Amino acid sequence: MTRPTPKTVPWDRDYWANGEKGILSAQRCQDCDRLWYYPKPVCPTCMSENFIYEHLSGAGEIYTFSIVRRPENPSFVDEAPYAFIDVRLDEGIRLLSRLVDEADAADLQIGDRVQAEMLPVGDGTKFLPYFRKVR
Ligand SMILES: [Zn+2]
Repeated sequence: MTRPTPKTVPWDRDYWANGEKGILSAQRCQDCDRLWYYPKPVCPTCMSENFIYEHLSGAGEIYTFSIVRRPENPSFVDEAPYAFIDVRLDEGIRLLSRLVDEADAADLQIGDRVQAEMLPVGDGTKFLPYFRKVR
């Protein structure tokens, strides 16, 4: 089964453009300085539409994780089991993702250092961050 391709909406064009260049980015509000992920049309703190896409390091640590054995979405059934990870980036924001290499799941622990890699998803036209364990 084909995996879904994320759709572009007016406020996330720069996010996808950065991803195509291998850059993980997040929005920063120019009014209250809040940094957030995933893309939203307004700042979740002050509702401002005045934001930029800031480039992130992609470095972070495992905040928590789970092993998915029975995905709810049928598009992912063939990939199970796989690790579903909650990463806290060094910039202070958290995001949900997957591992680049499922072999990293064997000894994965909370607090492990990870590094993002932008990988193609769906039909290959969009790129999302996956994480590799830093050894
Ligand atoms: Zn704000």
